[in-house]
Parts: sequence; C-alpha cells; structure tokens
Amino acid sequence: MPIWEPDKECMSRDELQQFQLERLQATLNRVYRNVSFYRRRFKECDFHPENDLTELKDLQRLPFTTSLDVSDSYPYDMFAVPLREVVRVHSSSGTMTNPRVVGYTRQDLRTWSSLVARILSAGGVTQDDVIQVAFAYGLMTGGLGIHYGAERIGASVLPTSVGRTERQVKIMQDFRSTVLVSTPSYALVIADKLDEMKVDPKRLSLRYCICAGEPWTEDMRREIEERLYVKVTDNYGISEVMGPGVAGECLEQNGMHIQEDQFHAEIIDPGTGRILEPGEEGELVITTLTKEAFPVIRYRTGDLCRILTEPCPCGRTFHRIGRILRRCDDVVVIKGINIIPERIGDILEQIKGERPVYQLVAVRDGHKDQLEIRVEVTEQFFYDKMREQRTLVDGMRTKVANFIGITPRIKLVEKGSLVRQDGVVRLFVDCRNPVR
Ligand code: ZN
Repeated sequence: MPIWEPDKECMSRDELQQFQLERLQATLNRVYRNVSFYRRRFKECDFHPENDLTELKDLQRLPFTTSLDVSDSYPYDMFAVPLREVVRVHSSSGTMTNPRVVGYTRQDLRTWSSLVARILSAGGVTQDDVIQVAFAYGLMTGGLGIHYGAERIGASVLPTSVGRTERQVKIMQDFRSTVLVSTPSYALVIADKLDEMKVDPKRLSLRYCICAGEPWTEDMRREIEERLYVKVTDNYGISEVMGPGVAGECLEQNGMHIQEDQFHAEIIDPGTGRILEPGEEGELVITTLTKEAFPVIRYRTGDLCRILTEPCPCGRTFHRIGRILRRCDDVVVIKGINIIPERIGDILEQIKGERPVYQLVAVRDGHKDQLEIRVEVTEQFFYDKMREQRTLVDGMRTKVANFIGITPRIKLVEKGSLVRQDGVVRLFVDCRNPVR
C-alpha cells in the first residue's frame, strides 16, 4: 500500500527528534506570547521557552493541561490567534461543564486533511474508493475531519453521517461504497440491518472499514470483518488535539502510528503524573507541534493505552499506540466502590454469551446511592418470556454483585430503547447530582 507522505512518515528517529525539538520550540514560544493561560503557567514554574528548552525532555518541567482547563477557557480564551484568522470552529458536547471549543486556521485545516489522508491511506483507501462517512457531521470533529482527508486523497466521498441505517444500507448497495467509516458499534448495527434486510454482504462492494470513536475490542474487530467481509483498521482522534488523524493503524493491524512530526506523545501514571516507560499502560498525554489556532501543551487525553516502539513491517517509523483500553475518567465511584463500566460488560457477556447493549445508571434514593444496570433484550424476549426474564435478572445481579461487591438493580429494557448519541450508548449516566 502506498504511504501518503513517506518523507515524513518514514523519517529516521534521529531526524524526527530534531524535527520535534524545533517545532516544539516554536510552539512554546507562540503560546507564551499569545495565550495568557500558558504564559501564566510557564511563569509559575519559572520556565522561559527561549532559554529553557534545549532537549525534548525539558518539556517535562511544564504542567499538564486538562479538559477542565479547556472548559474553563470557554469559548475562545485558549486560542493563540485572533478570531479573524480562525476559519473553522468545532466543539465537544458539554455534560456537566462548558463545552470544549477548538479552532483551526487555514493552515491547520491543510495539516489536518493531510493527516487524515495519511491514516486513510494506511487503512487501504485510495483515490479509486467510494467512501461512506457514517460519522456524525456537525460541531464534533469526526465527520468533517474524515471528509476533508478523504477528498484530499481523491476518493469519492459519501457524507451520509450517522443514523438512518436502512438508508445507509441502500446507499452502500446502490452507490457501491468500498469503504465504511464509522464507530465499531455502528458498523455492527449496520451488520444487523443487513441481516434484517436479507442483504448478502458478499454482494456489496465493501473492502475496508475504518473504525474509531469509542473503546472497542479485538473480538469486535473480528466480528465486523466476518460479517461485513472487510479489513478493519483502528484509528485515534481527539478534538482538543486535532480530531481524527492523530494516530492510525496500517494494514498490519498492530497498533496506531502516532503522527509524530505533528504530535509529541507521552504516557503517564494517571494517579501521580509520573512518566512511564514504553510498553507500560497509562494515560496518553499529547503536545501539538504545529497547530496555530489551538495548540495544546501536555494535554491529558484521559485515554489509557501503551506506546509500542518496535519497528512496524509497513516501513513507517512513527511509534504506535496500542488499542485504547479505556478512559481513566471511566472509573466511576458508587458507594465508595471503583467501578469500570466497561468491565461490567465483560460480566454480562459471560452470562448471555454475547455482549449486550447496556448502561450503568447511578441514582440516589433519599441519601442512598444505587447502581442500576439497564440491559437491552430483544423485543420478543422482553414481551413473552416472563419466567426466563426473572432467571436472567437474578443471574446478572448475583454475578455482578460477586464481582463489584454491591448489589445492583437490573432492569431489562427493550432493544433499541437506550438513548444513543452518535450511534453509541453511553456506558455510564450519573443521576445523583441533577444539574439545576
Ligand atoms: Zn505500520
């Protein structure tokens, strides 16, 4: 498979380090001059970018930037250029805090589209492809981010966005889509719809599926590959850093190459902030090296993974990150117990033999916290099988209680009834502190 920018993606590690250092120098100077938040932070630790950055390690003297810092700067306080130079604005959806707003200059958009072109190429996409982008278009970065990169390659882009699955399938058939871009769980929703509509996936033109947007597993990859007859690659993006295009897998399917000419990556212990060695699992921290409108310094992504330094047979020299295992803020505390919602799925999977769609909800009865687990079951099961329902609920309650130490309330709900956001069910909803 061709490499989109071999002069960058295959540069020697020595050359890359020098390259990163020079770009980091420029970035730190720029944020010191133009962003009062960073100027204040740098002064607090007596760091003067012109003198104090002589090697990449010096970056470790600077404090981390968090998602809360970005929320607090709502909407434009962390922009490093005047608004008239900003040609695009994206935003995350805010839940309990202000949304995180990011901006792009014309040059940032050029860089972004070439980074997405790199990861799409790495995942097998060429100008001959017809690419169906089933990521949400809108303020989130997913849809438009992929869109411009796919156009950059010269592929034919179908901006279908997410949802209306029957229409997605019809477009897939009639327009002969060869590539699907979606969240892994939405790819499986499409697979279900194919079954339901009795469409033989072998008769589609699909060859590749580019997945991102949520933590997922190797089992899901295999399932998508088997049910859609495609090769599936994983990629990683985060709006505060850029959007899609930060890291992407090649067809070796062994981890996502980080675009290291644009981003400097570190892995830290999320509890102590200590820097971890390659191969150790921790929180991914990213510093942008060329972003003009919205540079971030040591941004804590909240995503847990490990950095892989072994050479990749594809020829790219950029290090890789392994699958995002989970988010560190995914650990939720109920009745003083740490619970990883993702792990509850593993337990439910043991009982049902397949991973159900589920959601954890923390509720407060008076002053007592309760954990409720809502599990989707098929419509027929929901209506017909009272006795089996009881057995299933009891089984789940006991298994989960044995595992986490508190007894949850299990509630079976009809298939499709849990609220989906961009095709994904949120694994945890906290109803204990209602927003007033
Ligand atoms: Zn590779």
